[in-house]
Amino acid sequence: MSEIRNGTGDTDFGIYLHIPFCAAKCRYCDFLSAPASEETKEDYVRVLLQEIKEKAPAYQNRTVTSVFFGGGTPSTLKAGGIADLMDQIRAHFQVSADAEITIECNPGTLTREKLAIYKGCGINRLSMGVQSADNAALKLLGRIHTYEDFLESFELARKTGFKNINLDIISGLPMQKEGDYEKSLKKLLRLRPEHLSVYSLLIEEGTDFYRMYGEDAKIREQGGEPKLLPSEETERNIVHRTVALLAESGYHQYEISNFARNGKESRHNLGYWRRNEYLGLGLGAASLIENRRFHNTRELTDYLKYDFSPQDEEVIDKKGQMEETMFLGLREIRGVEKAEFYRRFGVTMRNVYGKVIDEMASDGLLLETEKNVRLSERGLDVANYVMAAFLLD
Ligand code: SF4
Repeated sequence: MSEIRNGTGDTDFGIYLHIPFCAAKCRYCDFLSAPASEETKEDYVRVLLQEIKEKAPAYQNRTVTSVFFGGGTPSTLKAGGIADLMDQIRAHFQVSADAEITIECNPGTLTREKLAIYKGCGINRLSMGVQSADNAALKLLGRIHTYEDFLESFELARKTGFKNINLDIISGLPMQKEGDYEKSLKKLLRLRPEHLSVYSLLIEEGTDFYRMYGEDAKIREQGGEPKLLPSEETERNIVHRTVALLAESGYHQYEISNFARNGKESRHNLGYWRRNEYLGLGLGAASLIENRRFHNTRELTDYLKYDFSPQDEEVIDKKGQMEETMFLGLREIRGVEKAEFYRRFGVTMRNVYGKVIDEMASDGLLLETEKNVRLSERGLDVANYVMAAFLLD
């Protein structure tokens, strides 16, 4: 992986394209995504092509180092649409020769033809939403595919020549036993993907799962013993076991939920945690440009009327930038580098955060070296609590 510097202009620059369509809505999902007709999808691609063209002139002094087609399920689009979008990006932006170009795709929506077109237009990384190797779990989650469907897609992807594949996995499912989870994880590891993202299930409002397990989730939040969801202790055990199993299999944890073989860390996602600039295109897509955060409209009807105006624009002042640098940076296992903090803000990390660092370090939650500050093993278990301490008054 190339060097990625934090910060201020001479850094990586990512483009995110949101494709808000899925074959069906999963029962746990609160992402901006829904099923749509082929006609709507085609209209959407047409509008997105126009957005790329209209927005690009403002970014001619930047070199794009990562492109990420996310969703939703980008692989529900006709592959020709993805190729057109990629061509449009290359025609209007300066894309570096070694850019990481990722597409999220779901089993059940991939074909040999689609994969060949992705490869042909320069996509060099696939992120596959498998979630579990257990068919009962996939059914419970409301996924449209079985493990066998996934296996077929994965093998097709390898045959097409994809050498950088991420698998998304969900842990902590209702009624899941630790042994079942481990069995599923081991089955997926035998395929030797280059990267794994392992997230604990969150019960989000507005989802089917919220109606089914919302009460249970509240009990857990309040420190009680849930009936159907795993307890906090079981969740922690699952996370520890995941880290250990992946380490044995040659993956290092480089972010709280992300694991990679050496050199296969996600350049695009590292950009988010390092506060590098990114431009979001498509429905609801968020951007961070020159310390301004904004997003596109979340209303599909408005977007399809070519509404590309920035919404909820927020200028992040120096205090906000420092806070974000710490709580996003601490998500990385290497932590936040002190020299980088000084380079960006002209003040030492100790000057701003000395008291918090000392308190957290004496509680065994942070580790401080001459070079950086990072979460300890115990700190990783309560990462949200530690990160919150870096909010300035
Ligand atoms: S495939 Fe992904 S984005 Fe689509 S509904 Fe399922 S979880 Fe949500």
